[in-house]
Amino acid sequence: MNEVLIRGRVLTFLTEPQGIDDAASYRYIEDGAVFVRDGKIVEVGLYGDILKLAGADIRIKDHRPNLILPGFIDTHLHFPQTQAIASYGAQLLEWLNTYIFVEEQKFARAAHAAEVADRFMDELLSNGTTTAVAYCSVHPESVDAYFTAAEARGMCMIGGKVMMDRNAPDALRDTAQQGYDETKRLIEKWHGRGRAHYAISPRFAITSTPEQMEMSRVLVAEHPDCYVQTHLSENRDEIAFATSLYPEAKDYTDIYARYGLLNNRMLLGHCIHMSEREVSVLAETGALGVFCPTSNLFLGSGLFNAARFDELGARWSVATDVGAGTSFSMLETMDEAYKVLHLQGQRLTPFNSFYRMTRGNALALGLERQIGSLQAGADADIVMLDSSAKSAMEFRMRTATSLAEELFILQTMGDDRCITEVYVAGKAMKTKNKKPGAVARQPLQLA
Ligand SMILES: [Zn+2]
Repeated sequence: MNEVLIRGRVLTFLTEPQGIDDAASYRYIEDGAVFVRDGKIVEVGLYGDILKLAGADIRIKDHRPNLILPGFIDTHLHFPQTQAIASYGAQLLEWLNTYIFVEEQKFARAAHAAEVADRFMDELLSNGTTTAVAYCSVHPESVDAYFTAAEARGMCMIGGKVMMDRNAPDALRDTAQQGYDETKRLIEKWHGRGRAHYAISPRFAITSTPEQMEMSRVLVAEHPDCYVQTHLSENRDEIAFATSLYPEAKDYTDIYARYGLLNNRMLLGHCIHMSEREVSVLAETGALGVFCPTSNLFLGSGLFNAARFDELGARWSVATDVGAGTSFSMLETMDEAYKVLHLQGQRLTPFNSFYRMTRGNALALGLERQIGSLQAGADADIVMLDSSAKSAMEFRMRTATSLAEELFILQTMGDDRCITEVYVAGKAMKTKNKKPGAVARQPLQLA
């Protein structure tokens, strides 16, 4: 038996906060502890009580005065774009063609995929993210690399091979049949192995023919316990192109609806320029809109309207969307989410931000019993946060008088430096990661 007691200021969410004063939506324990046995949480409570339960011989990891929260969850990003973040000056379609479809071709090489997968997982962990939903490249080797790297770290990860059979370079295209066959083999190999979950991943309507969409329908029907992910209504040129390719559809959302892809395991990246009808379809089917604020600002795509999703009863989650997203950090992501909503006269409280990163995203994935909360029986994926990790934060924190204020400072000023430790299934992972060695880089040109 492997037992550890983690001590610090415990914060975990019970329900969605209904305002900044909604203290019933969370549990906060000033001198708290989490008792972990063999990768699972046994109990959470006051340090004194938990110590009694665990026994005097228990190994104690004392993280005071830091906060202890459930590990963060990122519901949309692209593992092959790890090295293509910060690619300059283009909107979605040009950015894909100029940078991303070039970068993703490198993943035909298994060694490259493995190297990036290791770096990708360590980057997530370094930022306190313990579960993510990612697209791999079109190559099955990239999916093997992704799940192998996740398994080596014990992480609960969701992902899948992107399917694209048109409007992409030859080297990145499969066919409808090949996409089906390879996806099927990868599901058999990985789905449900350890903590791995598969996501059937037609990239978006532009890069899949009707034949491939039809094959996606079959895959979803044959594997109802797999996730499904694609992109929807990110950019106006994209919407015009997508709907021109499917003239029989009422609108962009209807393309996916017609192929039976909308269900409560479907994650739809972006959902920015949506009609009321389209958001209502998501509400009826339970499909999830994924809000990716740093990406939406970076590509100049537009502003996600969370209030409208709430009014119409549609579900939404939050995500980085690396590499159009500009950071792996969910703290930085929620900082931008706050600003995107603020620009539209909407308010995101700090409690709501931290709820979204943890329990909210877990509920969105239907994994709320396993992850997203510190509760007895859950997997011990846990993050420690230092609200004074940067000198400017330390100075600001001197005047903070409430938990809401502390969380807002963390979200507004924080990044990976605030993550002092992260546990995956009860194992400390951040401090064991080595810093990268000598910097290898290209000679730079001036023009
Ligand atoms: Zn994306």
